[in-house]
Parts: sequence; structure tokens; C-alpha cells
Amino acid sequence: MAEIQLRNVGKRWGSFVGVHNFDLTIADREFLVLLGPSGCGKTTTMRMIAGLEDVTEGDILIDGKVVNDLEPKDRDVAMVFQSYALYPNMNVYENIRFPLKVRGIDPATHDEKVRRASAMVELDDFLHRKPAELSGGQRQRVALARAIVREPNVFLMDEPLSNLDAKLRVSTRAQIKNLSHELAVTTIYVTHDQIEAMTLADRVVVMKKGIVQQVGSPTEIYDRPANTFVASFIGSPAMNLMDGQVEGGVFRAKGVEIPGLDIADGPLTLGFRAEDATLAEGQGQITAPIYTLELLGDATMISVRVGGALVSVKADKAFRAEIGEMVSFSVPKEICHLFEAESGARIG
Ligand code: ATP
Repeated sequence: MAEIQLRNVGKRWGSFVGVHNFDLTIADREFLVLLGPSGCGKTTTMRMIAGLEDVTEGDILIDGKVVNDLEPKDRDVAMVFQSYALYPNMNVYENIRFPLKVRGIDPATHDEKVRRASAMVELDDFLHRKPAELSGGQRQRVALARAIVREPNVFLMDEPLSNLDAKLRVSTRAQIKNLSHELAVTTIYVTHDQIEAMTLADRVVVMKKGIVQQVGSPTEIYDRPANTFVASFIGSPAMNLMDGQVEGGVFRAKGVEIPGLDIADGPLTLGFRAEDATLAEGQGQITAPIYTLELLGDATMISVRVGGALVSVKADKAFRAEIGEMVSFSVPKEICHLFEAESGARIG
């Protein structure tokens, strides 16, 4: 059992605020992902939970108990970092067993625990190798096994996949997801990669400059981003966003005219997802010359420039045209997300 509560947690260094007013309860067995660009405070938040960093404001509770003043070793959390921090002179078996030794766990149980953890990450055949004789992915799996073997209440993972190449990242990601399901341990996972966040998380916390922007399931964050920052950070490609003006319920920008909006006159940022719009049969709501075409294999991505932005629409994989040719997109108001022009906050 491990429920983690962050009660208005903050971190300051002098006048610089690293994390501001973080308030969230992470349920027992939940897989929570902290997502945001470099410097947004993800790692600092996680290090405060681990006890590697003091909190300047608020309280952190694990299972209802304030742990602010507890040493990291007394918090029953296991961390996996992007740098694997393996002991080079120990083989895989010894590396995985190390935390059991340090913790004074009954030596009679070590062998079974090490073998179970290494089997979970498919390292059974590598137990006698030294870290230098392993690939990056295998090393990362040793680090995972070393966290698993402790049977902690909480896993903290800081960008554990960032040193792996793209292909290995996908397979190790699947393995982490499967493991988290199997182990059913509360997990907090830090990444700047929105695909990792979307594929792994029960809930995602999107952060920017130390401030939580939105907390929600991957679907909620994708379907109803709270502001333009979240909208532009989630999705591949990110949501199309255009600045324009509303007059009499019609949104206009250069090459764009979307009628039927139930909203006051004035500036507006309007967004829609590339896969929600289609090529128009006749005259659509956006008409512009093709800026670029990208063949994705299962689809063709068409991009045009409107309202000072690059706007992409996913078309059939067979679609072909020349750069500069005029296209028209059907962008009905139902697929549009509306944001305040100034603050970027979602409207409605
Ligand atoms: P990254 O993805 O680059 O690791 P992050 O979101 O994990 O970024 P943090 O490491 O949490 O970001 O850092 C948050 C902010 O706090 C950054 O602006 C960073 O420069 C600042 N910061 C971190 N540690 C310290 C420190 N010891 N003293 C002063 N500022 C710090």
C-alpha cells in the first residue's frame, strides 16, 4: 500500500521558484507521469518525494504519514535514473543483489529474489556479465531489476529510457508498462517525452516553469487540454493553433473562416487536431497553398501556413500533390478547441 500526498509542496532556492504549490494525491498502485520541458521542475518534484531534496513549503505524506524529515532510506522508495549507476566491478547478479545486502535482508532469501527480479526483465542469461559487457538496454534492465528486487512501496523513475536508441526505447517502454501492471506498485515517472507519458500513465501531470498546468488521464489531456501550452505539448503532431479574430460568431485569420462559434467578439486562439480535419470536397474553412507534404506510411500529412502558424491535416496515404498547390480543409466548429488569446486558457 502506498498513497502519496503532495500538499501545496514548493521548492525555492533563494528567490528562484523551482516548484510552486504542487497539490495532488497519487493513489495506491497508480502510474503517474510528470511531463514537461527541460527545467519545468519534474526532477525536483521527484527528488523531494525521494527525500533527496528538502521541501521549502508544504508537506509530503506517504500512507498518511508526513515524511518531510525522513531520510531517503527510510521512505521505502526505489529510484531508477537515466544514468544506470551500476557498479562496474560487480556482475549483473551482484548488482541486483546489492540493495538486499545494504538493507540487511536475510541472505537466505537473496538468491530467489535476485532470480525472480532478473527473470522479470529477461536478464537470466546475463547474470555473470559485468556492466561493460552489456548493451545500453540490458544495463537499463539491470537498473530496473535492482529497483524491483527491493519490493519497494514506491518506484520513482527519472527518464529511465533517455539513453536508449529509439527502437529499444519502445520495447523497454512496453516492458516497464507490463512490469508496473504485474508488480502493482505506485510509480512516479519523469519524462519530457509526451509519447512515453501517454502510453505509460494512468494520469499525467503537465508542468511548465514549476507550475502544474493540468492533471488528467492521457485521454483527458489529449481531448481537453487546459491551455495552449498543454495543447501544443501533447500529440504528434501537436495541436494546430491559430491566432485570429471573432466577429459575429465567425473566426477569421488569413485563409481561415470558421462560422457558428458561440463566443463574444474579440481575439481568439483556435485549435484542432490534424486527424480531426479532412480535405474538403469543395470550399472548406481553411484554404491555402501546400507548404509541405510528409509521407508517414499509413497517412500523408499536409501542412499549410495560416494565421502565422503551420497547420497540419492528416490525409489518406494515397494523397499526392505539389508544394504550392492550393488545398482546402474542412474544419467544422465541432472539432475546434477555443482558447483565450492572451492567457491561452481553454474556453468552455
Ligand atoms: P530536465 O528535464 O532538464 O531534468 P526538470 O523539469 O527535471 O528538467 P528540474 O531539474 O526539476 O527540471 O529543475 C527545475 C528548475 O530548478 C530548473 O530551472 C533548474 O535550473 C532549477 N534548479 C534545480 N536545482 C537547482 C539548485 N540546486 N539550485 C538552483 N536552481 C536549481
